[in-house]
Amino acid sequence: MQMKMPRTVKRYCPTCKTHTLHEVERVKKKKASELKWGQRRFRRVTAGYGGFPRPKPEGREKPTKRVYLRYRCKTCKKAHQPPAFRAKKFELRED
Ligand SMILES: [Zn+2]
Repeated sequence: MQMKMPRTVKRYCPTCKTHTLHEVERVKKKKASELKWGQRRFRRVTAGYGGFPRPKPEGREKPTKRVYLRYRCKTCKKAHQPPAFRAKKFELRED
């Protein structure tokens, strides 16, 4: 899909039920919470003798990465996040 995107776009806002200006924000990966299931399993598996280091995953890297975008409506200040898409390279336009 698109590789470069403007920082503000006009798109449908589900709260205002019409097209409004939105600010585009790239969603970054957050640090895993120690209370989340995957993180608890990781702590359990790596605990004790021989638990760490673990083998690196084998194989090639994927040629495209998933891009997560969050749109914040300038009128009602609500944010929505449509399904992610994939792109080799993605950036928000500077200006
Ligand atoms: Zn809105």
